[in-house]
Amino acid sequence: MADYAGILSKHKFKFKKSLGQNFIYDDDLLDEIAVAGGADGVTVVEIGAGAGTLSRAIAKRAKRLCAFEIDETLFPVLDETLNEFDNVQLFSNNVLELGVETVDMLVGEPYVVIANLPYYITTPLISLFLKSELCGSITCLVQKEVADRICATDGSDYGALSASVQAVAEPQTVRVVKSWEFDPMPEVDSALIKLDRIAGATLSEELDDFIKQCFAQKRKTLVNNLTAAGINKDGLLRALTKLGESATVRAEQLGTEKLIELERLIRDPEFGTE
Ligand code: SAM
Repeated sequence: MADYAGILSKHKFKFKKSLGQNFIYDDDLLDEIAVAGGADGVTVVEIGAGAGTLSRAIAKRAKRLCAFEIDETLFPVLDETLNEFDNVQLFSNNVLELGVETVDMLVGEPYVVIANLPYYITTPLISLFLKSELCGSITCLVQKEVADRICATDGSDYGALSASVQAVAEPQTVRVVKSWEFDPMPEVDSALIKLDRIAGATLSEELDDFIKQCFAQKRKTLVNNLTAAGINKDGLLRALTKLGESATVRAEQLGTEKLIELERLIRDPEFGTE
């Protein structure tokens, strides 16, 4: 293991909680993440390079690594920890501000995402890469409760995040990662998840927005949530009847496949719902 603590202290690095900086140093765990993400011989995008610990495990295996890191005080650290690799490109952009089309353009070829994500932007980052034309899978560390919500197919954990992920990907939890495996130690445990894209599926802005509207207030019926979002009630009720569902159904009772079908139906002029 490289002397990360020594390198960070030499460059007077100070951890910033506001940027979700919880680093991992354990080589076995880092290798496991890179292997689970399928880094071997492919192009990888990493969000949040930190001190370059996971970046090194990926760069050893990948054809090419495009690593994003917004904290520029980490750049002198990364210059040291990644200097032996000629397949790494470092970007200082905030991926959320760039948008997925620009990220795809910068990378310019099919890729997989592997990351120990900054937790404060987990959901928007996952949602962004689900909309990519080039990203084949997302393997990332997220808070354990977020992993449970992403993988849930019913019950109280099932919600907008589960549905938008499952509309275009097959999620699985690879393993739990305990809080003590990070430095500094976060308050809760994490899980390594892998989202494998269903061939040819990409999450459209329309479907993502529709799913959010369906679950806007979990206690309300689907019809109440969607009419509050401006969708015509009459057409919506006819679309639900066509799907064999009642007017009082809730979004979580419908399941992901029927939510996708409903979104398709309400765009159909026959139902005249918009
Ligand atoms: N990959 C390293 C590791 O596993 O030890 C660091 C992971 S740490 C959880 C998340 C990293 O993401 C931090 O270095 C943080 O500065 C960076 N970060 C936070 N917001 C970001 C953003 N919008 N774009 C890119 N990097 C970001």
